[in-house]
Amino acid sequence: MAKPIGRTAVVIGAGIGGLSAAAAVSEFFSQVIVLERDELPDHPAPRPSVAQGRHPHLLLVGGLRALEQLFPGFGDDLAAAGAVRYQVGIDIRIERPEFHPYPQRDFGLHSYAMSRPLIEFVARRRAAQLSNVTLRFDGTLMFAAALTRLAAREPETHKLMTEVQHFLRSSDAYREPALMQRIKAEMASA
Ligand SMILES: Cc1cc2nc3c(=O)[nH]c(=O)nc-3n(C[C@H](O)[C@H](O)[C@H](O)COP(=O)(O)OP(=O)(O)OC[C@H]3O[C@@H](n4cnc5c(N)ncnc54)[C@H](O)[C@@H]3O)c2cc1C
Repeated sequence: MAKPIGRTAVVIGAGIGGLSAAAAVSEFFSQVIVLERDELPDHPAPRPSVAQGRHPHLLLVGGLRALEQLFPGFGDDLAAAGAVRYQVGIDIRIERPEFHPYPQRDFGLHSYAMSRPLIEFVARRRAAQLSNVTLRFDGTLMFAAALTRLAAREPETHKLMTEVQHFLRSSDAYREPALMQRIKAEMASA
């Protein structure tokens, strides 16, 4: 391990940014915990919280190199998972006003095209292989989401949330058994 900065780093979000951050700080902390609000699929699949998740993506060469630094062999992993290797300047046709046809030239650079879920899945698998990195789907976030949905429907719960947010009541108020039961039912129905 490089010179340690602290014992535990917490990263919010297991998107490409969060997974990269987790890998980057993993050398400097004894443990890294990545908290994600979505349940993480065990295969490449879009997730509810990633609006751009269904778009086809390509990695620019600089992005690929940065990911290779964090996860050596990342490009090979992408290719093995089904990404399409493309040759920069050759395999993608660019149209620019006043230059038609824009020349196709081989600069000896390549990267990969694939779905965003595929990049994320490969990065997730690599991050999870780091012995001090833990990915966690955080139930606390589900609790908060269920409570918010209830508050949107129930004026009394809305008032309670407002009082807690304004420090008029402790968040222990959420533990009231009847409310807990409704929150749990809401979590189960999500
Ligand atoms: C139309 C479109 C096309 C694109 N094309 C390309 C492309 O070709 N190539 C390319 O490299 N990039 C492309 N991008 C950009 C790329 O999709 C984004 O830069 C990248 O997905 C961002 O990843 P991220 O991890 O930073 O953020 P996100 O993907 O937004 O991930 C954030 C994560 O944090 C989680 N989260 C948020 N808040 C909380 C919380 N409070 N608690 C717990 N978890 C939380 C979310 O659930 C999510 O998993 C494109 C984007 C768009 C919109």
